[in-house]
Amino acid sequence: MSDSREVLLATGNPHKLDEVRAVLSPLGWTVLGLDDLDGPTPPEPEEDGDTFEANARSKALAYAAATGRLALADDSGLEVDALGGAPGVRSARFAGVDGDRATRDAANNRLLVERLRGTEASDRTARFVCAMCLAGPDGRILAETRGTFDGVIVLEPRGSNGFGYDPHLLLPGDGCTSAELSPEEKNARSHRGAATRAMAEAMAGLEIA
Ligand code: IMP
Repeated sequence: MSDSREVLLATGNPHKLDEVRAVLSPLGWTVLGLDDLDGPTPPEPEEDGDTFEANARSKALAYAAATGRLALADDSGLEVDALGGAPGVRSARFAGVDGDRATRDAANNRLLVERLRGTEASDRTARFVCAMCLAGPDGRILAETRGTFDGVIVLEPRGSNGFGYDPHLLLPGDGCTSAELSPEEKNARSHRGAATRAMAEAMAGLEIA
């Protein structure tokens, strides 16, 4: 294994990287993203699991094996009750549009609004879910955690922080969307913040730590 305090976060998403670093860096972990690796980026495994947990597991195991590093993977998405839990594990590919992240996010958000038009706000309860898995290069799963972030989908986007569906998740009681929170505020209560904090506890107990 490489540096014992180094962990690879199996993502090219800079927002996820920032959110995870904000929790793990102060605890002494150096969190590398896929773009920090020397040489070609290992191919991303097919995200064909039925659950966030299954996808996080296969990503963590694949990147740990391909890089010989301790690898942490996050699989996350949005569950909307009025849509039977969709887009769920298909959140990143909901609209089926190719292109850069901003293009895909915009198309996914348009489709979300289209699907929910005409529904009452009380029926638009939803949550972000994040499943995290930590795998060692020997093929062992070392820890798994989960976090959720509850809200209500609003049809008019608000705020410009964050990414993905953030401008559409209204936080009851706060009167603002996830995209109107500062990065620190989002991390303090988000699905990814919760899953990462639980992961940090598990990592502190590992022998490699
Ligand atoms: P993944 O990269 O396969 O885990 O896909 C995650 C997708 O779920 C993203 O592309 C977003 O559409 C959505 N998502 C996950 N976490 C968040 C978040 O914190 N804010 C907004 N959207 C999110």
